[in-house]
Amino acid sequence: MTLPALPGHPHFAYRGTALFAEDVCVSELAAEHGTPLFVYSKAAMLSALASYQRGFEGRNAQICYAMKANSSLAVLQVFARAGCGFDIVSGGELERVQAAGGDMRQVIFSGVGKTRAEMRQALAAGIGCFNVESEAELGVLSSVALAMGLRAPVSIRVNPNVDPKTHPYISTGLKGNKFGVAHEDAVRIYQHAALLDGLNVIGIDCHIGSQITDVTPYLDAMDRVLDLVAAIEAAGIFLAHIDFGGGLGINYSSDDQPPQADALWQQLLGKLDARGYGGKKLMIEPGRSLVGNAGICVTEVLYLKPGEQKNFCIIDAAMNDLPRPAMYQAFHAIVPVEQAARQAADVLYDVVGPVCESGDWIGRDRLLSVAAGDQLAVLSAGAYCMSMASNYNTRGRGAELLVDGDAARLIRAREPPADTSRPELLLP
Ligand SMILES: *Cc1c(COP(=O)(O)O)cnc(C)c1O
Repeated sequence: MTLPALPGHPHFAYRGTALFAEDVCVSELAAEHGTPLFVYSKAAMLSALASYQRGFEGRNAQICYAMKANSSLAVLQVFARAGCGFDIVSGGELERVQAAGGDMRQVIFSGVGKTRAEMRQALAAGIGCFNVESEAELGVLSSVALAMGLRAPVSIRVNPNVDPKTHPYISTGLKGNKFGVAHEDAVRIYQHAALLDGLNVIGIDCHIGSQITDVTPYLDAMDRVLDLVAAIEAAGIFLAHIDFGGGLGINYSSDDQPPQADALWQQLLGKLDARGYGGKKLMIEPGRSLVGNAGICVTEVLYLKPGEQKNFCIIDAAMNDLPRPAMYQAFHAIVPVEQAARQAADVLYDVVGPVCESGDWIGRDRLLSVAAGDQLAVLSAGAYCMSMASNYNTRGRGAELLVDGDAARLIRAREPPADTSRPELLLP
């Protein structure tokens, strides 16, 4: 019997016929906590972080975890305790960092639509930097800061106009995107920012997309950003840091071959040094690459439904738990939690959830040997799954466990469906 490979999941493996997360048997976790169940490996998170830390050894660098990838409090605690800062995109995320004990000076605030209330909240908390995404936002931030008697630390997100060769919904550095300011406007907008009394210009920022598996767009973007650094500093505005964003991909399948973080940064730092900017503080905002392959989602097969054109494997996890396939046609590997002794033949299935949408599929055309009641593990479920999960169809969100060695700790209780209507008001 050949057991399926688990691409990119060094801390998840079969022992005999049973899937383990570190030293814990996954089917025992599912028996205790039910399904759908997210299981994370702390060691996997820390080893992903260590690859970046190795790459930046001896450098003035700051890693800010882009927490929208997975914003569960205990996950934030893991990264805060490992010395990470955080890249946030809302006031709600700021509150989560505070609850997890993160260092406010290492928080950077990205996003095209910050409200005045969010700006005040972040200024009062003393965050490290605002990544400003438009000229209009510069003016508003300056006036909000002045009204508080403060100067807001800012960098401006520039759009390097390089194609990251990823899905259009997760490419952010092209001309047609809503993010950042255009390359050709950047110097003028920096000059404008430098004149605003409520701002303190400290850096430059870019982020070209997500799930990038090719080094070339990164190298091109680095060149474009460094061209701007030269032009902005020639205009008399000193930039203390360069923030190079996130976006490094993970292997969802063995077809994805992203570079390792340390290998990627060896090349990027080489370029930085060659162009004479090696002494600047470097900031990065990785999300997916820190948590994506540190998590799986355990689900139970409810029904098998053979059909003329398609066979369906209906599971108890759905698009509200695992939104990426419905949103981006994304691929998640799906493997058995327990390799059964039963010698059932492999059958081609579409793996679908119970939600009433044809878009509610988790995997298409998968060869599986399954029966109702079996458990499956949806791989690469650590990033952009629970943080994007919804209550659609009035489904409570699943539970989350963090495994550390031979211990598993519940970090999010299963959400009772009744909780989803708590903020609602009945008519009299
Ligand atoms: C989403 C996002 C990131 C993280 O992207 P990943 O692909 O998860 O690494 C970093 N910076 C900004 C501004 C983002 O919007």
